[in-house]
Amino acid sequence: MSIAEGIVQTLEEQALVQGYSRVKRVWLEIGPLAAVEQESLRFCFDAVTRGTLAEQAQLEIIELPGEAWCLACAATVPITQRYDSCSRCGSYQLQVTRGDELRIKELEVE
Ligand SMILES: [Zn+2]
Repeated sequence: MSIAEGIVQTLEEQALVQGYSRVKRVWLEIGPLAAVEQESLRFCFDAVTRGTLAEQAQLEIIELPGEAWCLACAATVPITQRYDSCSRCGSYQLQVTRGDELRIKELEVE
């Protein structure tokens, strides 16, 4: 619930800055390491936007890829969760470089 509430709070803050009165659509970028369950986020978003400027706004979720730097391979490899092993060599010496994003990419407002 707190993620959805944070989004609504951001939308309300941005409304003051940008001068819109209604949010129609929200594009949200989520990395695989953000530990967000999309279905429950959608459900919470619908619940917390009720009675706000984002009531009935569409939530569009953009899934970003996860990436890590493998110390053993000295290469960037794709990952789908934080404690993945390297898909090339099986090493667990990975430094996560991408994938914990959770941000609003774009808004459709009026
Ligand atoms: Zn490797």
